[in-house]
Amino acid sequence: MLSDKNYISLEEIVGKEQVSASKEDLLCYSYDATNTTYLPDAVIFPANALEVSRIVELANLRGFSIIARGAGSGFTGGSLAVSGGVVLSTERMKRVIKIDEENLTATVEPGVITWEFQQDVEALGLFYPPDPTSKKISTIGGNIAECAGGPRAVKYGVTRDYVLGLEVVLPTGEIIKTGTSTMKGVVGYDLTRLMVGSEGTLGIVTGATLRLIPKPESVVTMLAFFPGISEAAAAVADIVAARIMPSTLELIDSFSIKCIEEYDPVRFAGVGALLIVEVDGRPESVKIEAELVNGVCKAAGATNIETATDKRAVKNLWKARRSISPALFKLKPNKINEDVVVPRSKIIELMTGLESIGKERGLIIACFGHAGDGNIHMNIMYDRNDDAEAARASEAVKEAFELTLSLGGTISGEHGVGTTKAEYLEMEIGSVEVALMRRLKECFDPKGIMNPGKIFSNKSAVRVT
Ligand SMILES: Cc1cc2nc3c(=O)[nH]c(=O)nc-3n(C[C@H](O)[C@H](O)[C@H](O)COP(=O)(O)OP(=O)(O)OC[C@H]3O[C@@H](n4cnc5c(N)ncnc54)[C@H](O)[C@@H]3O)c2cc1C
Repeated sequence: MLSDKNYISLEEIVGKEQVSASKEDLLCYSYDATNTTYLPDAVIFPANALEVSRIVELANLRGFSIIARGAGSGFTGGSLAVSGGVVLSTERMKRVIKIDEENLTATVEPGVITWEFQQDVEALGLFYPPDPTSKKISTIGGNIAECAGGPRAVKYGVTRDYVLGLEVVLPTGEIIKTGTSTMKGVVGYDLTRLMVGSEGTLGIVTGATLRLIPKPESVVTMLAFFPGISEAAAAVADIVAARIMPSTLELIDSFSIKCIEEYDPVRFAGVGALLIVEVDGRPESVKIEAELVNGVCKAAGATNIETATDKRAVKNLWKARRSISPALFKLKPNKINEDVVVPRSKIIELMTGLESIGKERGLIIACFGHAGDGNIHMNIMYDRNDDAEAARASEAVKEAFELTLSLGGTISGEHGVGTTKAEYLEMEIGSVEVALMRRLKECFDPKGIMNPGKIFSNKSAVRVT
């Protein structure tokens, strides 16, 4: 519970209108994409870094928790107030401060919506590649905190590859600058890299300097149809082995296809798996790469390969792709969504292994995602009211993680640990490394006020969506 004294102090920092403890407001900031809810004690809407700093300084002094929140689209409970505290929303900090066309950089506030920022830079012939599928709602601050990736990561990398420097409010309230605004910079420890992906546990990002690149001149989008998941997974491995560098290589399995069939029932009927492949660059090279992709997919068993001819067709295809995650609820009322990654040469083993885990346990495991970088979103579908099925789903997660690790992979490529994967942290990371991480956390946040209960929590989380 936040005391009246603390609430009044918060009002003094941001003004009465920008802090709330009304039930309606708290509810709006109590959930994320895990569909678990925790009511915070209050929610606050600072306008700038100075206000964030004063809020955090107060929290540190008086000992209440602060949880940074962007759009609340996270899949691992990161923005939830699991043990109460004040949710700090960055929604008023959404200015693109500068786009530097000479140096190909941009300076932004954390609450900027990723897609809106991308539209701004693309209007100038520039490109900010990190494109989580949630880009139309998620924020740059949330993307930085989770080191978000997306379909384009296969060619362009993830958020960390585009963050040059940060402004951060530490858990003590101090404002620091990390990194540089130059392309290179190696002075001191790389605090920028430490902050990126730290899930809001080490500080609150209040500004970012991002790297931009020239916008690709042309893009070709292809849709390859396969009889089954093994053929599609083989095509992914073959495209990588053939040294072709698509800008997108997305896989969609038959369970996921069923959920989006309404977009085009005739075309998708009876299809075992799909690959969305995009190549981009100069028109001449794009044409050659598209032909190479065609050849590899056919050799791997594609029954048909279509090239999208107009912008509307491409838009519709991506709309269908983005709708998979929510559309999966057509299969079962609940799902456990994990985003495992394996080396790309192991993708066939991962897919066939997940298929067997599902069959053995009588569960639907729907898979889709960024196969080009070995990152598969596996969705274990179940009914939480069916205790036996829920228990089998839990066992399947553990088995899928064991399989992933045995293939040299990692249990999360982009969603982070948050609360949902905390119990599995030591499956992947050694105890010495975990202890070092805990010491880092203590060093940044000696009183443990910043986003407590995340990454290291032993508390078993409810992973129901
Ligand atoms: C349909 C759907 C598709 C998705 N697709 C992808 C995908 O393709 N790739 C991918 O990587 N993710 C994906 N996600 C997950 C999610 O969108 C990302 O993790 C995203 O980066 C979260 O951004 P957000 O603004 O919603 O952050 P939130 O969910 O609000 O917060 C996420 C974490 O960041 C912290 N945080 C937020 N802002 C700050 C800040 N300013 N400073 C410090 N910490 C902060 C929070 O405390 C929390 O720990 C998807 C989610 C959905 C619902």
